[in-house]
Amino acid sequence: MCGGLWRRISMVSTRIVGVELKEKLLSIIYFLAEKGKHSGVKRVALRARLFPFYQFFCKILYRVFGYLYLYHVELPVTQKCNLRCKHCVFMMPYFEKPVEFSVEDNLKYMRKLFDTVDAIQIFRILGGEPFLYKNLKPIIQEALQCSKVRTVEIVTNGTLVPPKELHEVLKNPKLKIQISDYGELSRNRDAIKELCDKEGINCVIRGSNEKNWFDPGDLHFRGRNKKELRKQFKHCGEICRNLHDGKLYFCPRAAFGTKLGIPDVEADFVDFVNIDDRKKLRNAVYKLNQRKSLLACNYCDEGTKDYLPIPVAEQLK
Ligand code: SF4
Ligand code: SF4
Repeated sequence: MCGGLWRRISMVSTRIVGVELKEKLLSIIYFLAEKGKHSGVKRVALRARLFPFYQFFCKILYRVFGYLYLYHVELPVTQKCNLRCKHCVFMMPYFEKPVEFSVEDNLKYMRKLFDTVDAIQIFRILGGEPFLYKNLKPIIQEALQCSKVRTVEIVTNGTLVPPKELHEVLKNPKLKIQISDYGELSRNRDAIKELCDKEGINCVIRGSNEKNWFDPGDLHFRGRNKKELRKQFKHCGEICRNLHDGKLYFCPRAAFGTKLGIPDVEADFVDFVNIDDRKKLRNAVYKLNQRKSLLACNYCDEGTKDYLPIPVAEQLK
């Protein structure tokens, strides 16, 4: 549809129903995204079925109301991890020299992203293992202080108890710690939960019996054509964007795969390092969120019949 028509629809809709419709759309997107959230074969299929609606409602919000909404953004503060999961979705054990991103860079790109969008439903801080990161406090504070961020989550593998200097900031009702329960590997799972209960910190344990681990395969080129890629992408339905090293990627596979060999093409990310113009950034983020496939999909099995459940957190030797 041409820009002029969208603008006219925008003016009329805003005048007639304004804020109310916008809030309705936001609650529909939230409902769809929550319904379709990871974990389990059926959930993955459901997420894929709901994904086109998610994209459609995000499109209406932006084109009609000028409101740029992202449901879920992840910030991996470090590539370092103290576990070596063979099928880590971020491929952490395969980084020969894992990078610990500086607090200045992490804050710089967070601020730029927050300035660009109108709302982020869930902003997730993770690693590797985020509690290995020395300077986590200002990162958490920045996310909590931003009124555009509705919820902040920290995802940990349950090996490290959060240090005392973080307890106060973690008590914020907007924040939740999510412990990924990898059985015996998550050796401090119960200690973290006890601490959180005692200190009044929101905390959930996400169980390893949920069968939520799948194998997206290695990073070789699959040679799929455009039609196959679109079909795969539709069946994937990924809603987690990833802010990695100053670039916002459509998904973690694209973010980390490009560091390990997938070609890093400009169409697959938004460049928060080199673009400063807010309008340009907003359009680029909107377009990224509306993608119908990525080059990275040709280096991934998610959304195909080869994407099968695997044992949770199997460790490399
Ligand atoms: S604990 Fe998480 S980040 Fe670390 S290797 Fe396992 S899956 Fe990857
Ligand atoms: S690379 Fe494509 S198929 Fe794989 S997770 Fe990302 S969007 Fe989905």
